[in-house]
Amino acid sequence: MKNNCIFCAIAAGELPSFKIYEDDVVLAFLDINPFSNGHVLVIPKNHSEGLLDADDALLSDVIVRVKKVAMHIKESLSCDGFNILQNNGEAAGQTVKHLHFHIVPRLAGDDLRFVSAKGDMEKLAALAESLRMA
Ligand code: 5GP
Ligand code: ZN
Repeated sequence: MKNNCIFCAIAAGELPSFKIYEDDVVLAFLDINPFSNGHVLVIPKNHSEGLLDADDALLSDVIVRVKKVAMHIKESLSCDGFNILQNNGEAAGQTVKHLHFHIVPRLAGDDLRFVSAKGDMEKLAALAESLRMA
Protein backbone atom coordinates (compact mmCIF):
# COMPACT_ATOMS: atom_id res chain seq x y z
CA MET A 1 0.00 0.00 0.00
CA LYS A 2 1.36 3.38 -1.03
CA ASN A 3 0.93 6.46 1.15
CA ASN A 4 -1.44 9.09 -0.22
CA CYS A 5 -2.66 6.79 -2.99
CA ILE A 6 -6.43 7.16 -3.22
CA PHE A 7 -6.94 3.75 -4.89
CA CYS A 8 -4.75 1.97 -2.32
CA ALA A 9 -6.96 3.58 0.34
CA ILE A 10 -10.11 2.41 -1.49
CA ALA A 11 -8.65 -1.11 -1.88
CA ALA A 12 -7.87 -1.18 1.85
CA GLY A 13 -11.41 -0.04 2.68
CA GLU A 14 -10.11 3.19 4.22
CA LEU A 15 -12.08 5.24 1.69
CA PRO A 16 -15.60 4.33 0.55
CA SER A 17 -16.46 3.03 -2.90
CA PHE A 18 -19.46 1.60 -4.72
CA LYS A 19 -18.04 -1.91 -4.85
CA ILE A 20 -19.07 -4.36 -7.58
CA TYR A 21 -16.56 -7.17 -7.13
CA GLU A 22 -13.69 -8.02 -4.84
CA ASP A 23 -11.32 -10.93 -4.44
CA ASP A 24 -7.75 -11.35 -3.23
CA VAL A 25 -6.30 -9.76 -6.40
CA VAL A 26 -8.61 -6.93 -7.49
CA LEU A 27 -11.36 -4.57 -6.48
CA ALA A 28 -13.96 -3.37 -9.00
CA PHE A 29 -16.07 -0.30 -8.19
CA LEU A 30 -18.10 2.39 -9.94
CA ASP A 31 -16.26 5.42 -11.27
CA ILE A 32 -17.62 8.49 -9.47
CA ASN A 33 -17.46 10.59 -12.65
CA PRO A 34 -18.80 8.11 -15.17
CA PHE A 35 -18.46 8.29 -18.92
CA SER A 36 -21.60 6.15 -19.21
CA ASN A 37 -24.03 4.24 -16.99
CA GLY A 38 -22.16 1.37 -15.33
CA HIS A 39 -18.64 2.76 -15.83
CA VAL A 40 -16.48 0.55 -13.59
CA LEU A 41 -12.84 0.67 -12.54
CA VAL A 42 -10.91 -2.53 -11.91
CA ILE A 43 -7.78 -2.08 -9.80
CA PRO A 44 -5.21 -4.56 -8.53
CA LYS A 45 -4.96 -4.41 -4.75
CA ASN A 46 -1.17 -4.26 -5.04
CA HIS A 47 0.07 -0.80 -5.97
CA SER A 48 1.78 -0.08 -9.24
CA GLU A 49 1.65 3.27 -10.95
CA GLY A 50 0.70 2.00 -14.38
CA LEU A 51 1.02 -0.87 -16.81
CA LEU A 52 4.79 -0.77 -17.23
CA ASP A 53 5.81 -1.18 -13.60
CA ALA A 54 3.21 -3.87 -12.89
CA ASP A 55 4.27 -7.46 -12.29
CA ASP A 56 3.61 -9.72 -15.33
CA ALA A 57 2.03 -12.57 -13.37
CA LEU A 58 -0.21 -10.10 -11.55
CA LEU A 59 -1.26 -8.53 -14.86
CA SER A 60 -2.41 -11.90 -16.19
CA ASP A 61 -4.54 -12.37 -13.08
CA VAL A 62 -5.93 -8.84 -13.36
CA ILE A 63 -6.96 -9.01 -17.03
CA VAL A 64 -8.89 -12.23 -16.40
CA ARG A 65 -10.80 -10.35 -13.68
CA VAL A 66 -11.39 -7.42 -16.05
CA LYS A 67 -12.97 -9.91 -18.46
CA LYS A 68 -15.11 -11.45 -15.72
CA VAL A 69 -16.42 -8.08 -14.53
CA ALA A 70 -16.97 -6.87 -18.13
CA MET A 71 -19.00 -9.99 -18.87
CA HIS A 72 -21.12 -9.38 -15.79
CA ILE A 73 -21.67 -5.70 -16.66
CA LYS A 74 -22.59 -6.55 -20.25
CA GLU A 75 -25.14 -9.13 -19.13
CA SER A 76 -26.56 -7.04 -16.28
CA LEU A 77 -26.96 -3.81 -18.23
CA SER A 78 -27.65 -5.40 -21.61
CA CYS A 79 -25.22 -2.99 -23.22
CA ASP A 80 -24.24 -3.48 -26.84
CA GLY A 81 -20.50 -3.21 -26.25
CA PHE A 82 -17.91 -1.74 -23.94
CA ASN A 83 -14.56 0.03 -24.05
CA ILE A 84 -11.59 -0.92 -21.91
CA LEU A 85 -9.43 2.12 -21.23
CA GLN A 86 -6.13 2.08 -19.41
CA ASN A 87 -4.28 5.39 -19.26
CA ASN A 88 -0.54 5.71 -18.57
CA GLY A 89 0.99 9.09 -17.75
CA GLU A 90 -0.50 12.54 -17.47
CA ALA A 91 -0.11 13.10 -21.20
CA ALA A 92 -2.45 10.16 -21.74
CA GLY A 93 -5.01 11.48 -19.27
CA GLN A 94 -3.96 9.44 -16.24
CA THR A 95 -5.09 11.32 -13.15
CA VAL A 96 -4.80 8.56 -10.53
CA LYS A 97 -1.34 7.01 -10.32
CA HIS A 98 -2.48 3.50 -9.42
CA LEU A 99 -3.00 1.02 -12.26
CA HIS A 100 -6.65 0.80 -13.24
CA PHE A 101 -8.74 -0.50 -16.11
CA HIS A 102 -11.88 1.39 -17.08
CA ILE A 103 -14.85 -0.66 -18.32
CA VAL A 104 -17.15 1.76 -20.14
CA PRO A 105 -20.49 0.25 -21.24
CA ARG A 106 -21.68 1.37 -24.69
CA LEU A 107 -25.04 1.45 -26.41
CA ALA A 108 -25.45 1.36 -30.16
CA GLY A 109 -25.53 4.93 -31.45
CA ASP A 110 -24.77 6.47 -28.03
CA ASP A 111 -22.31 8.88 -29.67
CA LEU A 112 -20.20 8.89 -26.48
CA ARG A 113 -17.37 11.42 -26.56
CA PHE A 114 -15.65 10.36 -23.34
CA VAL A 115 -16.56 13.48 -21.43
CA SER A 116 -17.47 12.54 -17.88
CA ALA A 117 -19.97 14.29 -15.65
CA LYS A 118 -20.14 14.24 -11.88
CA GLY A 119 -22.12 11.20 -10.80
CA ASP A 120 -25.32 11.32 -8.73
CA MET A 121 -24.37 9.51 -5.48
CA GLU A 122 -27.85 8.06 -4.86
CA LYS A 123 -28.09 6.70 -8.38
CA LEU A 124 -24.56 5.27 -8.13
CA ALA A 125 -25.40 3.59 -4.80
CA ALA A 126 -28.52 1.97 -6.29
CA LEU A 127 -26.62 0.89 -9.40
CA ALA A 128 -23.78 -0.63 -7.37
CA GLU A 129 -26.36 -2.56 -5.33
CA SER A 130 -27.91 -3.97 -8.49
CA LEU A 131 -24.54 -4.87 -10.05
CA ARG A 132 -22.85 -6.40 -7.01
CA MET A 133 -21.36 -9.79 -7.85
CA ALA A 134 -21.43 -12.87 -5.67
P1 5GP B 1 -7.65 8.10 -15.20
O1 5GP B 1 -7.99 9.40 -15.85
O2 5GP B 1 -6.51 8.22 -14.22
O3 5GP B 1 -7.46 6.99 -16.18
O4 5GP B 1 -8.94 7.68 -14.40
C1 5GP B 1 -9.12 7.93 -13.05
C2 5GP B 1 -10.59 7.73 -12.80
O5 5GP B 1 -10.79 7.61 -11.42
C3 5GP B 1 -11.46 8.90 -13.28
O6 5GP B 1 -12.40 8.41 -14.23
C4 5GP B 1 -12.12 9.42 -12.01
O7 5GP B 1 -13.46 9.78 -12.21
C5 5GP B 1 -11.99 8.24 -11.07
N1 5GP B 1 -11.86 8.62 -9.68
C6 5GP B 1 -11.02 9.56 -9.15
N2 5GP B 1 -11.15 9.60 -7.80
C7 5GP B 1 -12.08 8.66 -7.48
C8 5GP B 1 -12.64 8.22 -6.25
O8 5GP B 1 -12.31 8.70 -5.16
N3 5GP B 1 -13.58 7.25 -6.31
C9 5GP B 1 -13.98 6.69 -7.49
N4 5GP B 1 -14.92 5.74 -7.43
N5 5GP B 1 -13.46 7.07 -8.68
C10 5GP B 1 -12.53 8.04 -8.67
ZN1 ZN C 1 -2.04 2.71 -4.95
